[in-house]
Amino acid sequence: MRRNPVNGKLTIIAPGRAARPTDLDAHGAGGAPAPCPFCAGNESQTPPEVDALRPSGSAPDSPRWRARVVPNKYPALPGMHEVIVHSPEHGVELEDLGDEALTEVLELWKRRIAAQLAGGAAAATLIVNRGRQAGASLEHPHEQLFATPVVPPLLLDELLEFDRFANRYGGCVLCAEMESAGERAVIEGPVRAWVPAASRFPGELWIAPGEHAADFREADVAQLAPALRRALVATRIATAGAPLNLWLHTAPADLRGAYHWHIEVAPRVSGLAGFELGAEIALVSLDPEEAARALREALPDG
Ligand SMILES: [Zn+2]
Ligand SMILES: [Zn+2]
Ligand SMILES: [Zn+2]
Repeated sequence: MRRNPVNGKLTIIAPGRAARPTDLDAHGAGGAPAPCPFCAGNESQTPPEVDALRPSGSAPDSPRWRARVVPNKYPALPGMHEVIVHSPEHGVELEDLGDEALTEVLELWKRRIAAQLAGGAAAATLIVNRGRQAGASLEHPHEQLFATPVVPPLLLDELLEFDRFANRYGGCVLCAEMESAGERAVIEGPVRAWVPAASRFPGELWIAPGEHAADFREADVAQLAPALRRALVATRIATAGAPLNLWLHTAPADLRGAYHWHIEVAPRVSGLAGFELGAEIALVSLDPEEAARALREALPDG
């Protein structure tokens, strides 16, 4: 990992990743038929699994699994980059799982984050890349867990804002954000979803427990599953299946101040352009209230 001394920005130089295969063409559609390493029956094409949901008695790296965790074959950081394949079926997205299966997968997210933090990582960032424009290289839906030896800058920025808010007003900035969502609220209940007033992406959606909680390792995933499923279905409909990224922000291993874990869903309707990159100021042409209305309309029943 390198840091540019002029602007302090971090970069991981990982030339090995250039060799990773892709089954998505430039338009995000499936390319030439190649055996998918994440489909049931092709377990030998991945590095040996480090965790899985499978019937008791079934051997590691054999079929019959429900979800599988393998080290990334082309890691950003060796030993700290895992792939979570949440279904043996090609094309099953997170929101296509039933709530029971999704709950079990979210439990697996918790377990892997806990394992990485216990293993010495400073922080763990779980992400989804959906569609080639959102960075996906393989079509079979999966999550990636990036454990890092440092707290990533965005998480550091958030931790700073939590501290600043607590010192100035007392309480939690994210709890306050949820409370003031108003017509930007999309899902109410024990787990809530809303469009941030200062969205960085058109149709950006945040999901968090209504009750203050810093650490995803202690999350009530049975409550999260239906909210996450509905949020992703609504996003898929409202954006007409646009590429998207999702990331989970949870407390770092060594949390000193306040924090509140959350998931950010970022539809990638438009690419990042020069001003975004050159000034780090987002330009969003969709009104957040408008985006929230479209998401509410697309929301499936409980
Ligand atoms: Zn597959
Ligand atoms: Zn809070
Ligand atoms: Zn965040």
